[in-house]
Amino acid sequence: MSVDGEPKIFVVVGLPGVGKSTVLNMAINRLREEGYSVELINFGDFMLKLLVSKGLVRSRDEIRKLPLRVQQEVQAKAAEGIREYFSRRAMSSRGLIGFVDTHAMVKTPTGVWPGLPEHVIRRLRPHTIIIVESSPEDIVSRQLRDLTRARRDYANVELVKELLMLNRVFSVASAVLVGASIAVVFNVEGRPEMAAEEIVNIVKHV
Ligand code: AMP
Ligand code: MG
Repeated sequence: MSVDGEPKIFVVVGLPGVGKSTVLNMAINRLREEGYSVELINFGDFMLKLLVSKGLVRSRDEIRKLPLRVQQEVQAKAAEGIREYFSRRAMSSRGLIGFVDTHAMVKTPTGVWPGLPEHVIRRLRPHTIIIVESSPEDIVSRQLRDLTRARRDYANVELVKELLMLNRVFSVASAVLVGASIAVVFNVEGRPEMAAEEIVNIVKHV
């Protein structure tokens, strides 16, 4: 872990339904057990708080339907706030692993939009972009089970295959802007601890 008080930031992306939150939480628990200072921030939660305080939305699925200009402005503010939060925590604990749970691409009514455009990725300055993936069949069945979210767009295996590829393309485009590495971590159905272990190993090598 760094002794200079700078946080090491890992941006974690993946299509809804890959099991990103499950895998991340397992990885974080293991790292904390081993004595690492670790913080996790969900980018969508951070944006939602900013937008709710302005009275612009009530739920997270409304975010991606806002005018793009508004989303971009809040997206940049969220990135800045997240970086600041990690920097403060890193100073008080002499080093920090900061995970950002987010998306490399966001579906909007006017097309697919980058979740990590230049104004975001430069503020976050991640060491690595971790892409969590699952088989297209597993993604579809998990999304069909998730009744809490409006996710009918993803209910087709062929479409999910294309989106998995597009997600890698968007991730690479963002990584290149800041010289971050890319790691693809595969989450096997029923074995999230394997993907969690891969993430733990990536973090330990930094
Ligand atoms: P989640 O619940 O983590 O799947 O994300 C909820 C919502 O937050 C997404 O549908 C997006 O509208 C928004 N969001 C998350 N990350 C970003 C980002 N990097 N840029 C823009 N919007 C984001
Ligand atoms: Mg999630």
